[in-house]
Amino acid sequence: MSNNDYMIRATAGNAMVRGFAITSRNLVDEARKIHDLSPICSAALGRLMSGALMMGDMLKGDKDALTITVDGDGPIGGLLVTVNNKGQVKGYVKNNAVALPNNEAGHLNVGGAVGNGTLTVTRDLGLKDPYVGTIQLLSGEIADDLTCYFVESEQIPSSVGLGVLVNKDFSIMEAGGFIVQLMPGATEEVISRLESNIQGMKTVTDILRDGKTPEELLGMALDGLDMEITDKMPVEYHCGCDRDRVERALVLIGKEELKSMADEENDIEIKCHFCQKAYTFSPKELKEMQLRAK
Ligand code: ZN
Repeated sequence: MSNNDYMIRATAGNAMVRGFAITSRNLVDEARKIHDLSPICSAALGRLMSGALMMGDMLKGDKDALTITVDGDGPIGGLLVTVNNKGQVKGYVKNNAVALPNNEAGHLNVGGAVGNGTLTVTRDLGLKDPYVGTIQLLSGEIADDLTCYFVESEQIPSSVGLGVLVNKDFSIMEAGGFIVQLMPGATEEVISRLESNIQGMKTVTDILRDGKTPEELLGMALDGLDMEITDKMPVEYHCGCDRDRVERALVLIGKEELKSMADEENDIEIKCHFCQKAYTFSPKELKEMQLRAK
């Protein structure tokens, strides 16, 4: 299937508001296939990947990266997503087969699967220390939690809406969302218009079911505020792992550990968490690695 996932960026209200919107069905479906995700897991990871991609679009440098981890006490056991500013995302959930009854609204019970816990955003901007912000999960529904993160950790009043719709055969029907943020100096007039727009909107899931594009979705949030789209970028699931990188990680586990692995005299297989690709190392290779290890 051709990839027509993309995100847009916009400005509105005389630059007092900025907005992002994304359609991410293909990349969520790719994650589903890689990790064999149940519908709830597709919804949880799909929402987090969609939100993270839009946050990645806020990064400035080409080598900057943003990682979001969600650690909750629910059956999903946690999620991790990493993005860059080139529209590439990868991620995984700890338990891929979680199934729960729908919530009261008749939607996939993502909050129940995630549970109570924390959300941590790590922004690696190429400086000595990465910027790290952690918040308590609000509902575990992901969009609420990211809204809370922006307000508490970055002091940016924001509204985040995310949705994933799953077909009966577990493939992804639609996925996407939006982020709108108030910039410093926003007037009361702009703020109240934005608030009433967002209060009047259907859920993102319902809007996606209506087949709306990111442009139309963001247009609803920014209605009457002279939205101007300033950027459009393709987005994709991309791992980027290779044998060298896996080998370097293996060397880091240390001489002793490598020696005991080599002594078993069997090939060992290391699977990439993000793409499930398997890398095999022979006892001979493990012995060579010992020489480079500490
Ligand atoms: Zn990989």
